[in-house]
Amino acid sequence: MVEVAVGAYARAGTAARRAAALIAVLRPEHPAERVDPALVLRTLRDHHEPEPIVLTDADVAGLRSVAAALRAVLGAPDAPRAAEQLNVILVGAPGSPRLSYEPAAGWRMDPGAGDPGAGAPVGRSPWVEWFATGSALAFARLMVDRQVKPGGLCAAAGCGTPFADLGRGDPRRYCSPRCATRERVAAHRRRQAADAR
Ligand SMILES: [Zn+2]
Repeated sequence: MVEVAVGAYARAGTAARRAAALIAVLRPEHPAERVDPALVLRTLRDHHEPEPIVLTDADVAGLRSVAAALRAVLGAPDAPRAAEQLNVILVGAPGSPRLSYEPAAGWRMDPGAGDPGAGAPVGRSPWVEWFATGSALAFARLMVDRQVKPGGLCAAAGCGTPFADLGRGDPRRYCSPRCATRERVAAHRRRQAADAR
């Protein structure tokens, strides 16, 4: 029996934000650089993942490979290609997601990591399954609800931070108001410099 101490699969928005935060800290775009499990732990705690949280180096390595696939979803140039990437993750996910009910939390979707038996690839930790299926479902749910990509990579120069896009309006381009302001100021300076010439 695999003990899945990874808690609820919360609302899509919450799970998508958590996924983006984890991708940011797992830094799959820099595979040669080490990621401190303590950082991953802190991110999980910041996002209210219930204790006890135990993460091994092998868990972190597995999470990083999932993060690479999820980052490709956010980095996709458009919705069809984001969906293509998401489907790759969903098809490869072990077990089937299911609804479960908890009096305190209500109905929730569990990413089906509780099936250690049939078909679960050997060596995949519950964390890896939770991260892959839970995040992909959350992103998929956002796409269905909003009909646009579920997030992106920040367009500000030198940033590239992954973010989930839960807004109703135009797709977001920046990870934070700070990056948006920085880019606005930079664009303004470029215009001024061009005018001065
Ligand atoms: Zn940014």
